[in-house]
Amino acid sequence: MKAHRVRDHALVLRNVHVFTGRGNTLDGVDVLVREGLIRESSRTRLDPRGARVIEAAGKTLVPGLIDTHVHLDFLSVRNGIHGWFQTRFALPRALEELTRNGVTTVRSMADPLAPVNRLRKRVLRGSFASPEILSAGPALTAPGGHPTSTLAKDNPWLRKHIAVTLDDPEAARAAVRRLHTAGADLIKFVYQGGLYGPDRIRLRKLDHTIALTIIEEAHRIGLPVSAHTHCQEDVDALLSNGIDSIEHGVIEHELRGTETLQTWRLAGARLVPTLSIAALFPGPSGGLYIDTARKNLACAYEAGISVVAGTDSMIGAMPPNTLHDELRRMVHAGMCEFDTLRAATADAADLLGLRDRAVIEPGRRADMVLLRSDPLERIENIADIDLVVQDGTVIYHAPDPAPAQARLLQPIWTSGHRLHRPHRDHRSVPCDCAVRPKPLLRTWGAQPVLFRPTHWDSAAHRNRGR
Ligand SMILES: [Zn+2]
Ligand SMILES: [Zn+2]
Ligand SMILES: [Zn+2]
Repeated sequence: MKAHRVRDHALVLRNVHVFTGRGNTLDGVDVLVREGLIRESSRTRLDPRGARVIEAAGKTLVPGLIDTHVHLDFLSVRNGIHGWFQTRFALPRALEELTRNGVTTVRSMADPLAPVNRLRKRVLRGSFASPEILSAGPALTAPGGHPTSTLAKDNPWLRKHIAVTLDDPEAARAAVRRLHTAGADLIKFVYQGGLYGPDRIRLRKLDHTIALTIIEEAHRIGLPVSAHTHCQEDVDALLSNGIDSIEHGVIEHELRGTETLQTWRLAGARLVPTLSIAALFPGPSGGLYIDTARKNLACAYEAGISVVAGTDSMIGAMPPNTLHDELRRMVHAGMCEFDTLRAATADAADLLGLRDRAVIEPGRRADMVLLRSDPLERIENIADIDLVVQDGTVIYHAPDPAPAQARLLQPIWTSGHRLHRPHRDHRSVPCDCAVRPKPLLRTWGAQPVLFRPTHWDSAAHRNRGR
């Protein structure tokens, strides 16, 4: 089980197409990895002695994915022994599964800190493959607030460990300092009142002075702060006070046309839209939160608010590919593929204060995912994983794919490729020609199917300018 900690001496990914994480791409480069770090990326062939060479022509290399909002599944845990079993068996399996989906860093939000620290120790020792786990530990909230009176309502153990309730500013300062000492990487607090969910649970919201004290104290000791919100007035109340990220954002009502958007952009706080959970949770009207969440993400993005990917998924209880799903939802909400991938790589790392990874450039940690097809063409390709490199070592190599012929001949309804989406703020775009590939009629078995080549595959694009 410790095999993945034995580092490949040196690794060359040969002739690969690279999405750097910053929003530009490189074509036909060799990427050299040694002792955990990216050392060089070059258009000339690299051939260091003893290096393991992986031929990657036609494949796309992206930085390891970051999910900035997850929970580890402690929902059903009712005592310390059960918690121990959870961190010993179920969670390692679930985390390992996550790395196979290209996720190399996660940020746990509102989890019991001692069990998370136990897991992190085992990850460091190399007991199992796992994304690196950053953690907020328990969430700070009001007595009678979320999640104390919602998720943990009937579970005293959970109530005690996933939240710290506060009713005065001095207690807030002390709680922030205690979490810092105990190893928290950030502070998360819940800022939501009113009625919650279809059960109409009445939530108590943190006093505004306490919320501001939390932000001030955390920043004083160098920890970033994230706030869980649902309502516009609550976001408004935090923006001018240096909050680093808003989790979920505004999902109870629509934001289009409000002043909040401009204030938000100027404040620079990131939005973590957590569409995956919004797609599961019913709001007060009985419908799902996703419709409002999607619309508000679209106008936040248009307004220039920085968006970072986070699923709010419960690791161990939800599918390990939820981040792929989140990225697909972000693109369908109106974000372009470039910005969506940045949101799960370089921009996510910026929010987490991790300057050592998430960009494919010399000196960065070699957390990377090699894909068989290009997610910039079609975001769903993020699931087309060939191998996953973490800390310079190949930790997962997917089984051989179906023959190329069968994959090319996908029926038209599964190859929903859009052409030339508008991009914002990119140093380079993959292509600026206006070629539109013609669909071709092929046969698949006895079945005639309409095959639509992707723009980048089309002969017209490859021959452009000739
Ligand atoms: Zn939340
Ligand atoms: Zn959450
Ligand atoms: Zn083109």
